[in-house]
Amino acid sequence: MTLDDEVLTLFDQIVHRNPAEIEFHQAVLEVLTAIRPALRRDRSLCDAGLLERLCEPERQTMFRVVWTDDRGKAQVNRGFRVGFSSALGPYKGGLRFHRNVTLGVVKFLAFEQIFKNALTGLGLGAGKGGSDFDPAGRSDGEIMRFCQAFMTELHRHIGPCTDIPAGDVGVGGRELGYLFGQYKRITNRFDAGVLTGKGLLIGGSHVRPEATGYGAIYFLESMLEARGEKIEGKRAVVSGSGNVAYYAMEKLQQLGATVVACSDSGGYLHDPAGIRLDLLHELKFVRRRRLSTYVESVAGAAFMPFEKPWDVPCDLVVPSATQNELDGVGAKSLVRNGVVAVVEGANMPCTPDAVQTFRDAGVPVAPGKAANAGGVATSAFEMQQNAARDQWQAVDVDRRLRGTMRTIHDTCLATADDHDLPGDYGAGANIAAFHTVAAAMNALGLI
Ligand code: NDP
Repeated sequence: MTLDDEVLTLFDQIVHRNPAEIEFHQAVLEVLTAIRPALRRDRSLCDAGLLERLCEPERQTMFRVVWTDDRGKAQVNRGFRVGFSSALGPYKGGLRFHRNVTLGVVKFLAFEQIFKNALTGLGLGAGKGGSDFDPAGRSDGEIMRFCQAFMTELHRHIGPCTDIPAGDVGVGGRELGYLFGQYKRITNRFDAGVLTGKGLLIGGSHVRPEATGYGAIYFLESMLEARGEKIEGKRAVVSGSGNVAYYAMEKLQQLGATVVACSDSGGYLHDPAGIRLDLLHELKFVRRRRLSTYVESVAGAAFMPFEKPWDVPCDLVVPSATQNELDGVGAKSLVRNGVVAVVEGANMPCTPDAVQTFRDAGVPVAPGKAANAGGVATSAFEMQQNAARDQWQAVDVDRRLRGTMRTIHDTCLATADDHDLPGDYGAGANIAAFHTVAAAMNALGLI
């Protein structure tokens, strides 16, 4: 059997074993396709069922979450936690609370996390979790009761040396505080190392809220530098307006770019003069209002309901909302309007069609598993601080984050070059990460 046949047969088996998990299939196919040059070079990487083991989660937990809403009505949601790989360290990855969360979505995110965490070089395994709980429109009391109910089950499965959850869509500092409070209450332990992304007073790290967005822009900085360009003076479009998007916009503006558009699930905001981040912060994070309310305070801005921001002319695009949000049609429009670099702040925001469109046009794409690794890297720094009962200065955390992103960038580029795929960040990220995980799996024996 040729290598291509072997890989396709394996993929068919994975689809058969995990029916209807479209995002998971997409993520697996992307990796299996990208690592073929490495497998061709060293066929022994397919021995001992390594690829089959790599694509099968070590453990998957699903549980019922029962809580009471403000009217006293019982609500039932489903909770998930997938430990995909502990070859490099304890399971590590965020929790997502969103109505679209399914086991397939959690598995896709956990699978991506294997490669992302390997690229950080910080000894992290990979996991992910969450719930189909929809936080939109819920009161603070409802959010707290849901978090407490969720942790009442989850606490059995996690621990500082076993599995360390963090935030993701719908889970930020507030939710992590409630989750940690319940963990502490049930276990009778102030075990700060069990969750990352906590507030500063309860064992959190400086720069953790900013880390994913800042890290993506540090990656972009290296990408442009490698092409003799810089961020200053460029126009950027960022999708989303949550944690990753907001801090990506902040770093872009600090480095001299003008961010002209961002979005939420209701549409996109266009402000040709540059998005006013102080106003955005107040609306989204303090008052928890919708993005559309921005135009009530800024005369030159417009909100386009139900639209995506890909038709707005820009040099840089940082999709930072959700998976598969940027398709081939959007990519064509961005290319037509002269985009020069794409950095995935979100996980898998570009469809395969979009990636191919950018590749054909010679526009470099930084895959999320490399470009958004700054969040989990800083979570590892938080774990180091918790283990030492220490809190580092913000400037030290930021320096380490920037250094880590530069190293990941250089590793991706060098690995792509080494496989005769110059500038292909996707191939570089997948192959470099795969080599690391495969070596650890082989060292651990057949488990
Ligand atoms: P947030 O919940 O803080 O923000 C998500 C943003 O995306 C919101 O603006 C939300 O709009 C928008 N959004 C969510 N779903 C959709 C949708 N289906 N269509 C359009 N817009 C949508 O999440 P984060 O910023 O933390 O996460 C964003 C992405 O980054 C995700 O892919 C996540 O996995 C990834 N990521 C996050 C990390 C982190 O540290 N937080 C680390 C690494 C990756 P609305 O408010 O209207 O729902």
